[in-house]
Amino acid sequence: MGSRGDLHTHSTFSDGILTPTELIELAYQRGVRIMALTDHDTTEGLPEAFAVAEHYPDFTLIPGIEMSTDVPGSEVHILGHFIDWGDDQFELQLVRLRESRLGRARRMADKLEQLGKPVSWERVESLAGEGAVGRPHIARALVEAGHVSSVNEAFDLYLSRTGPAYVERERLTPAQVIETLTAVHGLPTLAHPRDLEGLEGLLEELTTAGLIGMEVYYQDYTPDVVERLKGLADRFDLLPLGGSDYHGFGGHQQRQPGDIPLPDEPVERLLALARERGALETV
Ligand code: AMP
Ligand code: ZN
Ligand code: FE
Ligand code: FE
Repeated sequence: MGSRGDLHTHSTFSDGILTPTELIELAYQRGVRIMALTDHDTTEGLPEAFAVAEHYPDFTLIPGIEMSTDVPGSEVHILGHFIDWGDDQFELQLVRLRESRLGRARRMADKLEQLGKPVSWERVESLAGEGAVGRPHIARALVEAGHVSSVNEAFDLYLSRTGPAYVERERLTPAQVIETLTAVHGLPTLAHPRDLEGLEGLLEELTTAGLIGMEVYYQDYTPDVVERLKGLADRFDLLPLGGSDYHGFGGHQQRQPGDIPLPDEPVERLLALARERGALETV
């Protein structure tokens, strides 16, 4: 049996494989009872997710999002839980970010062509569907074209930050993302912090900006890593949260929904904080 809470998951509305309906069905079957849908730069999966969640009276869905931030040489992702996803200003910002994702994906496809590893743009578009396009869609097109044998290999050889087909995209600074999320009553937390350089300095800066938690329980984080991160969370007075970051595309690091040792207590504290800040009526 896995954890009761899972605060980080993706659906077909960004780069996940399952629809929000399939994702919630799977999570529920696995014993998850409090789940956040946190697609990249979009809240468009939330209407479907809430419609499904209604059928499960003992299941709490948290409206969430994951946003990337601009820190030179590093991938700093921030999750927002309990966002007021009907906010027009917020949606406009997200539309702009998704448009920039599209332009950037095209440039990566161009680079792959120059590298002699072309992918069909139509296929990338169709893999992305209505959702926010991301590198995993290009990675899957590379697999289908026979240039690589797996999504992981596509990242290793071409699409990682230091890879030859990588293109930067428009991003906000962490402080801007925290401000944006806080403006829509979101509770900002730092995603997958294990490998971030200068983590302590970053935490100091982000806590001042309004960060309320960070992921301590995540995918293949070992007990040592969990202990180290828990110590940091304590020191900066952050909630020690976590999630599977389930995308559904397999690979050695990937976990099923709820397949993380996240205890109930910090999840309850997150819900209490949301209530305190008046956000829980969005659930
Ligand atoms: P993007 O938002 O387009 O920059 O793509 C980031 C997403 O790519 C992340 O959310 C992960 O799901 C995925 N990703 C990043 N690095 C890897 C990797 N080495 N192997 C597989 N997927 C990855
Ligand atoms: Zn992703
Ligand atoms: Fe992420
Ligand atoms: Fe994620």
